[in-house]
Amino acid sequence: MGSLARLMIAGSSHAPVTRVCALAVGAAMAYAAGSYESDLNVRRPPVLTVRASRTSRGQGSAARVVWVMVDGLRLDASREMTVLNRLRTEGEDISARAEFPSFSRPNFVAQASGIEPAASGVLSNGYPEEVALDSVFRRAKKAGLRTAMLTTDPDPGLSWTYASWVDDTITEDPDPDADLPPADLVFVHIGYVDRAGHVSGAASRQYRAAVARADEVIGRIARTLDPAREALIVTSDHGHLDGGGHGGMEPAVVRIPIVVWGAGAVRRTRAGRGRDVGPTIATLLGIGPLSHATGRPLVRGDAVASRQRAAARAAVCAARTLRVDHVPIVIPIAVVALLVLGGASGVEMRPLMSSPTYALVFAVLLLVTHTLSFSVSNDGGVFGGRLTALGAVAALAQLRVGGRSSLVPAALVASLAVLWTAVAAAHQPLAPADGTLRFLPIPALAGLAFICFMTAALGRQGMLEVKSTASRRSARPRALGAAGVLPGEPALGGALRLAWSASGVGGLNRSPTMEDPC
Ligand SMILES: [Zn+2]
Repeated sequence: MGSLARLMIAGSSHAPVTRVCALAVGAAMAYAAGSYESDLNVRRPPVLTVRASRTSRGQGSAARVVWVMVDGLRLDASREMTVLNRLRTEGEDISARAEFPSFSRPNFVAQASGIEPAASGVLSNGYPEEVALDSVFRRAKKAGLRTAMLTTDPDPGLSWTYASWVDDTITEDPDPDADLPPADLVFVHIGYVDRAGHVSGAASRQYRAAVARADEVIGRIARTLDPAREALIVTSDHGHLDGGGHGGMEPAVVRIPIVVWGAGAVRRTRAGRGRDVGPTIATLLGIGPLSHATGRPLVRGDAVASRQRAAARAAVCAARTLRVDHVPIVIPIAVVALLVLGGASGVEMRPLMSSPTYALVFAVLLLVTHTLSFSVSNDGGVFGGRLTALGAVAALAQLRVGGRSSLVPAALVASLAVLWTAVAAAHQPLAPADGTLRFLPIPALAGLAFICFMTAALGRQGMLEVKSTASRRSARPRALGAAGVLPGEPALGGALRLAWSASGVGGLNRSPTMEDPC
């Protein structure tokens, strides 16, 4: 063992060192939990190696395409829209599936570039820069067309994404005007349906009112278009839970509408995916194929588009075999640190046997409270509070079963569980049937952070030196004290200890069977 480990072992016989180490590991885990989602982004995805095909121009069925994206519009809610239903009957009605994770920016890129987030590298709303992928905006510009973006609220993430390929970006609040910019490809983003979903939930009157308002806007836009030579495509990036929230794979969240109307649309009903939108627009305008698209046109394909799609798919699959995976390096570091602390504390059999309690109880609580989806994590404050409450219950169970001396081994077991979770998540398929595993490292890291903070707050005084009988005799009255608070113990630790004792379920030092072995 290296000198650092020896130093740590020697030092851990003093509670302050153990506590400081636990605090440091806890802080690192809390940070990793907070940044896990945005760390999933890949700036140079392997699909960029696919060579761009030459931009064509002239075989498109539409001289102009207007693409309206209603952010957060559920498929079932879209079937209550009068205007949209009329467009459906006159054009193509596609029941589509949003891409995972069902956040806005990953799905905007999936639609504009025709490629799923796992392969595009855009896996969160916090993608830090302009996307390097080919897109309908890039192809349109390369073909000498004019592009414009109209949004109902200033969303920097949206306007950055393809900034180099959009001629005009206009924000119109409260509603986009029917007088669209005179561009050949116009993207209109309606943001208030998503906002209503977050604030009031998709089952609310407010959400329905926002959907009806978007329907009116679509009607105003459709009236300005000539369906013989112009096309309108209406999509949503994701749905919303009844209570609000998206990001996961719940049916209410992943079922989205795509409607194609006007020049090039065929009257029919079919299924599709979010990644099919870009190839559809490229085909309508005759500017394809999109170099990195794995989706297929919903209108009509051609041999060139099929070859390009095969090349993109091959690049994505080849990269997958390389296993360029995401496991935060702080997790194995935390495992080693807790292993050293656990080994140094000389834990006895009972606390050791009880050490999986925290991880097991925390996992069961995640399951029974349905805290296993990106859709529950949209509001960071509420989500953090929820995880803290679950961690507190699991920590009380750990203290009840194993006592304070079991906190370090419990943190070690939790760190091993987190490591397994992160490795399993990194090896998930590109298009998972269920996104739980991809999400799980976030609450797992938060749970590990909590038990580390508990260890820092309630870590028993002394480790190796209090194992002697004499020390045991003298430690007991010292540990209890007049108020049951350890001398020099941090205020939080003392308060938690008092609460535990007062609850009547604690009795850490009362029952011989529950006695802290130290
Ligand atoms: Zn949203």
